[in-house]
Amino acid sequence: MIPVSSFNDRTVAVFGLGGSGLATAQALIEGGARVVADDDGAAGRAKAEAAGLPLGDLKTADWRTFSALVLSPGVPLTHPEPHWTVRRAREAGIEVIGDIELFCRERRAHARHSPFAAITGTNGKSTTTALLAHLLRKGGRDVQMGGNIGIPILALAPPAGRRVHVVECSSYQIDLAPSLDPSVGIHLNLTPDHLDRHGTIEAYAAIKEQLIAGVERGGSAVIGVDDAFSVAIADRAERAGTHVVRISVTRPLADGVWRDGTDLVVSAAGAESFRLPLAGIASLRGVHNAQNAAAAFAAARALGLAPEVILVALRSFPGLAHRMEEVGRKDGVLFVNDSKATNADAAERALSSFDDVFWIAGGKAKAGGIAPLAPLFPRIRKAYLIGEAAPDFARTLADVPHDLSGTLEAALAAAARDAAAAGRAQAVVLLSPACASFDQFANFEARGDAFRALVRALPGIG
Ligand code: ADP
Repeated sequence: MIPVSSFNDRTVAVFGLGGSGLATAQALIEGGARVVADDDGAAGRAKAEAAGLPLGDLKTADWRTFSALVLSPGVPLTHPEPHWTVRRAREAGIEVIGDIELFCRERRAHARHSPFAAITGTNGKSTTTALLAHLLRKGGRDVQMGGNIGIPILALAPPAGRRVHVVECSSYQIDLAPSLDPSVGIHLNLTPDHLDRHGTIEAYAAIKEQLIAGVERGGSAVIGVDDAFSVAIADRAERAGTHVVRISVTRPLADGVWRDGTDLVVSAAGAESFRLPLAGIASLRGVHNAQNAAAAFAAARALGLAPEVILVALRSFPGLAHRMEEVGRKDGVLFVNDSKATNADAAERALSSFDDVFWIAGGKAKAGGIAPLAPLFPRIRKAYLIGEAAPDFARTLADVPHDLSGTLEAALAAAARDAAAAGRAQAVVLLSPACASFDQFANFEARGDAFRALVRALPGIG
């Protein structure tokens, strides 16, 4: 845990008691603050109570007694209760911040030279974060990884010496961290997403840019320059005097890291360029992963790793669960868990990675459905549709063979049987639902775990 000493002897409100809210309350208390914790859901309050945290009712609180409101990034500001809590705090002149802000203040106060990599972007954050942590560990570094992935930031070990913190930051978290100042900032890409919270793409881009604009003096910014917003972010950072490393998967760069087929090319003005082959690394398949690998490479370099070390370490990256995760093989059929693909865009990347797909899809539908995937329909041998979206997906698929399987169990049983019977060398049973999961599962992780367990229970799986 990272004790938060910046509110010693003062009172702090903590709203939203998921994993990061609980860790925040504990870290504040450990650092000497008084805490009033609240959540509008019974589950969060019950967990806080079990952990012995002081609960209160922030609806009726006198905000003048508080020094800050620490908000969980998962709290939807569109819900009435959190919305009013934030508004009342702001009206009383109380700062509203998140756990990453508390981390930054601790680091600055106690270990300002310890390396800190912060990763954002619309897509690829978790993969890049996990990959960078993997490269650094293989390079012998003491690494703490967390934030929006895995462990809440304040539950990590404190910044100290050469220990590196590798932290995934969502736009919500950046929005609540006004003094975010990584030594290496990574911004991967920017496409419309989460506009429900941020309003316009310009507002969303401005939040992402704060992570780059905050890069500390002498630090580096690694920026994907394959979309216009990110190009502008890179140009502004450079004009502001930050060392910028550009990455691209769409075009060669005279100075930066770019993709040529399945190779990364590292070029620098006045130096000879060199190549990093990614072919054959299953966990980094696909153009989008070349972007993640390029970013992790550039960040690991900025943190002092030698290219030869990175090249070897890339090959042993195990990948992340639920993202194109290979969970087994049987009779030549490969089973892939891509449960994280909760929209058509992500499912498109999965479908385009294989030629002979027995596709399990459906769940809680997102706007737009699967119509944009039509160019990939020829790759689908048969689709097995589950959840609420099944009838709608069936209409879109039209004459592509499909079953209304209903449940994941039924879908997997039928897909495994059909794929084996087809006797094709490259057949893949792919769970890439293009839907949210919560009509049938708690979240995408539970859906992927169920798929993995079902695959592993098939007779003869290897
Ligand atoms: P995030 O943490 O930003 O949600 P993940 O690393 O968890 O991203 O990847 C989620 C999905 O997004 C992957 O399954 C893949 O389909 C897609 N993806 C991953 N990296 C990228 C990228 N660099 N650009 C576009 N899409 C990506």
